[in-house]
Amino acid sequence: MSVYDKYETVIGLEVHIQLGTKSKAFCGDDASFGAPPNTHISTISLGHPGTLPRLNKKQIEYAVKLGLALGAKISPTNNFDRKNYFYADLPKGYQITQDRMPIAIGGGMDVTTEAGTRHIRMHHIHMEEDAGKSIHDLAPDATFIDLNRAGVPLLEAVTEPDFRSAQEVDVFMNAMRQLVRYLEVSDGNMQEGSLRCDCNVSVRLKGAEKYGERCEVKNMNSMRFARRAIEFERKRQIDLLEAGGKVAQQTLNFDPVTGTTAPLRDKENAHDYRYFPEPDLPPVVISDDYLANIKAGMPALPWELEEEFVEKYKLSTYNAKLLTEEKGIALFFQALTKHTKNYKGAANLVINKINPWLSEEKKSIAEFPINHQQLGALIQLIDDGKVSNTIAYQRIFPELLKTKKMPLEIAEALNLVQSDDADFLEKLVDEVLAKNPDKVKAYQKGKKGLIGFFMGAVMKASKGKAAPKTTNALLTKKLQA
Ligand code: ADP
Ligand code: MG
Repeated sequence: MSVYDKYETVIGLEVHIQLGTKSKAFCGDDASFGAPPNTHISTISLGHPGTLPRLNKKQIEYAVKLGLALGAKISPTNNFDRKNYFYADLPKGYQITQDRMPIAIGGGMDVTTEAGTRHIRMHHIHMEEDAGKSIHDLAPDATFIDLNRAGVPLLEAVTEPDFRSAQEVDVFMNAMRQLVRYLEVSDGNMQEGSLRCDCNVSVRLKGAEKYGERCEVKNMNSMRFARRAIEFERKRQIDLLEAGGKVAQQTLNFDPVTGTTAPLRDKENAHDYRYFPEPDLPPVVISDDYLANIKAGMPALPWELEEEFVEKYKLSTYNAKLLTEEKGIALFFQALTKHTKNYKGAANLVINKINPWLSEEKKSIAEFPINHQQLGALIQLIDDGKVSNTIAYQRIFPELLKTKKMPLEIAEALNLVQSDDADFLEKLVDEVLAKNPDKVKAYQKGKKGLIGFFMGAVMKASKGKAAPKTTNALLTKKLQA
């Protein structure tokens, strides 16, 4: 047993979710990503004297939605606070945030890994605004500042220190990404920084009750990096303890090039920020009516759909997960079940044909040209034994992409309908047997597995049109002779 196995890793996350609102949190500036630097700014987001913030209603709505989805308690009264610090990309000199009372308290989410299913408790979710961006790598001797992001609305979702592995963190962050996309509160794009997290990592001897001292690795916007950072921290902290040292509470940066963490600054305390109530914003009261309205408008959640797909449509958990990864796909499948009773066939069609086509064409499901009636009819065509799966997928599907015609019409026009015709099949079977006398002998001596070979050969000779059942019966009969 290695010394590392004596310890348990404890991780808590602070997840930052950039909201997909049109305008910023406290003014009308455009909040979208990717514009030329310093074009989405105004006297308000720059914090000029005499300007006043005005709350964006959407930020409240989105926070409430996420809170409800995670089973949190929504605070009826919401105050804002100022968090003061000096930094070049923070023109106001403070961020507006919620310090005394966050909008959502508690709740949680299950995560499933090889280690089993564990419940991760949420501590709270609060609203705040983002800072601008300092860009250090454009020039060797200068830092550039882009304030487009200053004032963009954020939610910070803080978990309890309930994670025990980097893998659990990975699963959780993926589920968060999926959830915010289902709720349509954020695009969840980690590369663009819409979803990022700080990982608080500590270690303790297995069985110990008290948590170890933690370090906080800031701003992880790639799960691959987060996993490496957690792994590195775990080993670093254990090595330190084993050598008789102590872990100092620190804020760290992860360098993906070296794969190591390094201190950014000593951990600041709340009093360093001199929090005080934001004087320019009145409290926001969330009424019961408002809450009821949001509840009524909540979309189905990924885990609810997954369960429904397993229970109602008898899909495997694996397939249900694949189908619910994206809300658009899940709803598409759900609608398709109104047009066929062969749910497995429908799932196969979406997973093996439609999804690959969408990713190849870089299209969203909303742009998919084949309608549900056509797809339902395609599945029916296979079920009725009119065409094989292969013919349906490889020949009819591409035609359906181009026309609103029904599958049977296409199959007939292209002469693809399977043939049950005895004369037609017998001729093909005789040809195949005549061409392969060695294999016929081998079959008759007991190599019954060769039936697959004969089936394949007849299928090929018929260009996929031979009805498998009849062909199989015919082959078996002729081979007995
Ligand atoms: P701060 O605001 O100073 O960062 P918080 O008390 O809000 O501190 O905690 C931040 C995060 O640290 C939370 O996600 C929490 O779960 C996590 N955390 C707290 N203690 C530990 C610990 N000993 N090991 C790992 N994570 C921890
Ligand atoms: Mg923190």
